[in-house]
Amino acid sequence: MAEKYVYSWGGGTAEGNATMKQELGGKGANLAEMTTIGVPVPPGFTVSTKVCGYYYSHNETLPSTLEAEITEHIARLEKNKGATFGDLENPLLVSVRSGAAVSMPGMMDTVLNLGLNDDVAAAMGKKINNERMAYDSYRRFINMFGDVVMGVDHHKFEVKLSEAKKKAGVQNDNELSADELKEVCQEYKKVYEAETGEAFPTDARDQLDKSIMAVIKSWMTPRAELYRQKEKIFGLEGTAVNVQAMAFGNMGQDSGTGVAFTRDPSLGTNEFYGEFLVDAQGEDVVAGIRTPMPIKEMKTVWPDIYKELDDIRLKLEKHYGDMQDVEFTIEKGKLYMLQTRTGKRTGLAAVKIAWDMVQEGKISKEEALKRIDGDHLNQLLFPILNPSEKASAISDNRLFSTGLPAGPGAATGQVVFTADDAVAWHKQGKNVILVRKETSPEDVAGMASAEACITSTGGMTSHAAVVARSWGKCCVVGAGDLAIDYDAKTVTCNGMTVKEGDILAVDGSTGEMIVGEIPTSASPVIAGVVDGDTEAQKTEVFKMFNDIMNWADGVKKLTVRTNADSPRDSKVARALGAQGIGLCRTEHMFFEGDRVWSVRKMILAESEEARKEAIAELLPYQREDFEGIFKEMDGYGCTIRLLDPPLHEFLPGDEAGMKEMAERMNVDISVVKEKIESLHELNPMLGHRGCRLSITYPEICVMQAQAIIEAACNEAKKGTVVKPEIMVPLIGKEEEFQILAKIIRETADAIIAERGVDVSYQVGTMMEIPRATLVADKVSGGDAGAEFFSFGTNDLTQMTFGYSRDDIGSFLPEYLDQKILREDPFQSIDQEGVGYLVERGVTLGRQGRPGLKCGVCGEHGGDPASVKFFHGVGLDYVSCSPYRVPIARLAAAQAVIEEK
Ligand code: PEP
Ligand code: MG
Repeated sequence: MAEKYVYSWGGGTAEGNATMKQELGGKGANLAEMTTIGVPVPPGFTVSTKVCGYYYSHNETLPSTLEAEITEHIARLEKNKGATFGDLENPLLVSVRSGAAVSMPGMMDTVLNLGLNDDVAAAMGKKINNERMAYDSYRRFINMFGDVVMGVDHHKFEVKLSEAKKKAGVQNDNELSADELKEVCQEYKKVYEAETGEAFPTDARDQLDKSIMAVIKSWMTPRAELYRQKEKIFGLEGTAVNVQAMAFGNMGQDSGTGVAFTRDPSLGTNEFYGEFLVDAQGEDVVAGIRTPMPIKEMKTVWPDIYKELDDIRLKLEKHYGDMQDVEFTIEKGKLYMLQTRTGKRTGLAAVKIAWDMVQEGKISKEEALKRIDGDHLNQLLFPILNPSEKASAISDNRLFSTGLPAGPGAATGQVVFTADDAVAWHKQGKNVILVRKETSPEDVAGMASAEACITSTGGMTSHAAVVARSWGKCCVVGAGDLAIDYDAKTVTCNGMTVKEGDILAVDGSTGEMIVGEIPTSASPVIAGVVDGDTEAQKTEVFKMFNDIMNWADGVKKLTVRTNADSPRDSKVARALGAQGIGLCRTEHMFFEGDRVWSVRKMILAESEEARKEAIAELLPYQREDFEGIFKEMDGYGCTIRLLDPPLHEFLPGDEAGMKEMAERMNVDISVVKEKIESLHELNPMLGHRGCRLSITYPEICVMQAQAIIEAACNEAKKGTVVKPEIMVPLIGKEEEFQILAKIIRETADAIIAERGVDVSYQVGTMMEIPRATLVADKVSGGDAGAEFFSFGTNDLTQMTFGYSRDDIGSFLPEYLDQKILREDPFQSIDQEGVGYLVERGVTLGRQGRPGLKCGVCGEHGGDPASVKFFHGVGLDYVSCSPYRVPIARLAAAQAVIEEK
């Protein structure tokens, strides 16, 4: 039997249903479903997505059986509707619409009134005793068919309409008489002929075939492809084509059309929300030619229809168990539903609707968790730009640039170009946006003072991105089209120049930068959870957030830890639900206050003695920080990593800094310069960093182990339950781990014995060099082996792909464009390659040491898709920046639910 490609609905029955979205598209599947549950829907048929799939996989040809199948379904539709294509007595007119499995703007828009030609329009005018309406429908059809199907510029038709109105001396379209509209139709046909080089098709079947073809072709338009890429929609067969009998909303004062949501899509409240227009077709509502009325006003205009529509709203919501977005038309007092689909909503509405539906007994808690995504939660946690002001700024051409969305939230402030200016301006009470080509540890104070940070280079794991995310600070990186001139203190892009002090608004969730002020609104969740603000804790948002997080914790299997380097970050992370620290980057502690001078002294030291002396200065600082961290993480594991970055990162980058260093160290500036020169590496990411530092300078490792264990003993004495986990970074060979583990264990055991405090600790390693994952059993095996693994997927991605994590921005857009990559691998784990190494590392590691604790601490630990992958490969925990913790908790719960 030939494959079935076309599915009909009408007269209370349907061949499809709501579960067939893959074949019928969302629209087609729901039209079928509504028909069978007794909602009034004009009859029609769907050409399945398989036809689109076939077309693109068979050299742009259609299945040979399709034509006959469509003929058969047209006959069925004619029977259902009691009308015939091209018939002058009772003509069948149809709409043609695209519709993929996932709702997707960017494809072909609607063609209405298909089936009209000169004769049918004349006959129809007589039959309905409304010639005006017949010719109005006809001119719309020629315009839509020309524009949408054949690509004729819509403006060319508009010009003719304007001329007709001018000639008739009227302002509005609906003031044109039937004869005048008839004339417009002829003018439109001339435009069509001139632009396409062919006559306007008069045969309904010909019109239909061309429209179906246009829908199929619209699947591959750049607009549609771009949308799929942006929204990460992959693996769909294509679009379906829906052909449906027309219902006319433009038949007079007892007709109309509208769109509505079954609940408020921006706040989520359980109220009918939408608008409608009397005597209009669907496009009028969307085009904004006339101002529609709020749906509630239908109660007065058409009370009976309002009642019917409201009943359908409740019926659909009950049936689908979710908020719906519907389109409807009223033809001479009779209501028809033309579409229902799950309604798009803001983050707040998503949470509110899911939470309300659980209270209403409509859905389970697990279902509610499935319906909320990380972006939704983000919108609850961070300030957002006022949506309508942002939209109008963008339509006013104030969009300055778009980079990578590296740090959440939104901010508005005055632009500065140096970290020092950021600090100084902030002190004067100004809100500042720090714009840099890139940031380095030297800029940290400026970043802390800024409302948002922007860089023109760097990727999702660049310094700016990692630091900003850990603070929950708005940040956009890798905005490569920004031309920054530090001397002139200007940044230029998109034909606009922003000077120091000018206002810029930044959306860290989308990467957009907008010129001028846009108000932001703050999050009561953060105020309530992190700052303990009692007023904020009374808000509904706060309550919903807590409930949802508790539901997630009840389901998830993965533990969620945090990446935190200070007691302050640890406290925030605990408040947001982190259960331990997965990565404390000790180098970040070296930059606080004056500590960097001790680090610089250590780097300049000529002898081991001098180095030890400088290192000893750092010990109390580190110990104090560790005590604070252990205290905040009472009872939970804390993974603390030995120093990781190359030493040159701690040295000044400019002449003034070098001069200051020389003065402070009491040496000639040439000594400083020489040192900087000697530490210069062609490839610092692959150079003298990670465990290689401690292998060559073991005193660093000794000092850090001492600070950690002394802090643990001090805190344990006060009654805190401490669980230190000391981690060796960047190993490729098991010997690297074994040498350092021995030093750490000897140092730790001596302190514990001397203090007589009962502290137990573990020594483990990062898995971030591909080789290490391939010999993981050797690393974990034996008495000297690693007691835990933490996968550093930032470096692992860098070294597996061979892409510099700081420079991917220069070629990523092209790689996405050419579909070499589907997404930034530093943002979402590359499951096939890097993910395979993680899986392999876990399996081998546990062969070497059964039950080995394994986690991840790369940025992927806060990415929902990656979290689900890590759950699947059996990690014990994920670790992410404090403000990503709620998202990771939710994703960890969804991973379990999706497995069922
Ligand atoms: C990693 O490489 O994944 C990691 C967490 O370490 P860092 O980002 O500090 O190199
Ligand atoms: Mg690393």
